[in-house]
Amino acid sequence: MARTARGATQETVRRHNLAALLGHLHRYGPTSRARLTRLLGLNRATIGDLVDDLVSRGLVEEQSETERAARGRPSKVVAASPERCQVLAVQVGVDAIEVALVGLGGPTLWRGRVSISRDADRTVERVIRAVTKLAVPQLAALANGVVGVGVAVPGSVSPDGSVVNFAPNLGWHQVPLAQLLAEGLDFHGPVQVGNDANLGAMAEHSRGVGIRSSDLIYLHAEVGVGGGIITGGQMLTGARGYAGEVGHMQVNPAGTPCHCGARGCWETEVGEDALVRRAGLIPGGRAKVELVLANARRGDPTCMQAVNETARWIGVGLVNMVSSMDPEIVILGGVFEDILELARPALGEQLNNNSRYSHPSGVALMKPKFDGSSVLMGAAELGLQRVLSDPSTVPQGYSLHAAAARRGDSTASPPRKRREGASSRSVSIVDAVDAGSTGARRQTA
Ligand SMILES: [Zn+2]
Repeated sequence: MARTARGATQETVRRHNLAALLGHLHRYGPTSRARLTRLLGLNRATIGDLVDDLVSRGLVEEQSETERAARGRPSKVVAASPERCQVLAVQVGVDAIEVALVGLGGPTLWRGRVSISRDADRTVERVIRAVTKLAVPQLAALANGVVGVGVAVPGSVSPDGSVVNFAPNLGWHQVPLAQLLAEGLDFHGPVQVGNDANLGAMAEHSRGVGIRSSDLIYLHAEVGVGGGIITGGQMLTGARGYAGEVGHMQVNPAGTPCHCGARGCWETEVGEDALVRRAGLIPGGRAKVELVLANARRGDPTCMQAVNETARWIGVGLVNMVSSMDPEIVILGGVFEDILELARPALGEQLNNNSRYSHPSGVALMKPKFDGSSVLMGAAELGLQRVLSDPSTVPQGYSLHAAAARRGDSTASPPRKRREGASSRSVSIVDAVDAGSTGARRQTA
C-alpha cells in the first residue's frame, strides 16, 4: 500500500529526530531527558517516545540516576548503549595494523595490534589476512552486535569510501579495499574506508578536542603526513578525495625525492624518516623513531637538534596551511604530537610570527584528545555513520535479557515496556517549544 505524502514526511522527521537524539548522546555522553527536551526543542512526550524507540533497538539505556530539572522534577538520565551497537575499527599503518571494537558512545571494548615489517608484509593480501586473523574471532563471538566496519588507510580514498586510490607509503594503487575486507571478514554490513588524517579529524571534531570547533585542521604524521581539514563543520574532500594530502605540498624544491614521485614534499622534511636521518641513524621502523624521541627527552643534543630542525619544517607547512585555511585550532597527531611536546615554544613562535596578517591573535596548537588513537577512533566513527544517520536501520525488539545472559549478568532489569500508542509509525512530531535550540526538526502542519 502506498504511503501518503504526510505519512512519509512524518517518518522522515521522526528518523531525523532519532538521529539527532542518538548523535547527541554519542558525542556528548549521558544526558537527562529534561536537558534533551531543551536541546532538541521537542516536548517531553516526544522525547520520551524517541527514547523508548531507541531503547527498543538496544541503542540507548536509561540509567538509574536522575537529574533534578529546573522546576524541581527529577529527570532520568539517558545514555548510549555500547553493547548493542559496536563497530570494528581498523587502522592500516605503515608499521602496524590496529583493530578495535568500539561501542556507541565511544568506549573501546577490545583492541588488537600486529606489527608489520616495512617490506614484505604490506601487500594488500597480507594486510587483509592480518586483519581477519585478529578480528574474525571477535566478530564470531558477537553475533549481530557489529553494525559496521570503518577502515583508516594512509592514502587517498574514493569519495564513496570503497577504493584506496593511492597509498604511496604502502605501494597501493586502486585497491577495492572495502569489498576485499568484507569478503575476508565474511561481513555483510557496511564497510567504509577513509583517509587516516581525515578520520583523525573526524574523531577529534566529533568527540575530541575539536568538539566545539567547526573549523579545524588535524595533522597525522608517521612516515607520511596527512591532513584532515574541517571547514564550516564539513570535511574538505576535494573532487576526487585527494584534499588534505598536505604531506605532498612542495616546501623544498631542492630537497629529497618523495615516494609520490615528486621532490621536496613536506613529508620528506617532517616525516619520521627525516627525523631519524637528522639524528644520524638510518631510517627504518618505529623503534628508531622512539629512540630519537626518548634521547631528545633526556636532553641528547644531537637528537634535540633533529627534533628542532624537524619542528622548523613543520612550522613552514603550518604557516601555509593556517594562512590558506583559517582554522580555529590545529591538532597535531602521530609523531607531530611528540615533536609538539618537545618543541612547543619554538613552533608556536614560528607559526605566530609568520601568520600575523591572517591570525593576529595566534592559532591554538593542540594535542589530540585520543592520545595516539585519533585515527582508530575516527575509523570507528566512520563505521557508526549509518546507524548515527538513521538509527532505524537497527531493528527493534532487542532483548536486554538475551544481552545480559550473553555476558552472564543476572542483575539486568527486564526490557522496558513501550508506552501505549508510541509505535514509530503513529507518533507525530508537531510539538514546537524552546525557540533557539537546534538539532531536531519539527514537522510543519
Ligand atoms: Zn610527495
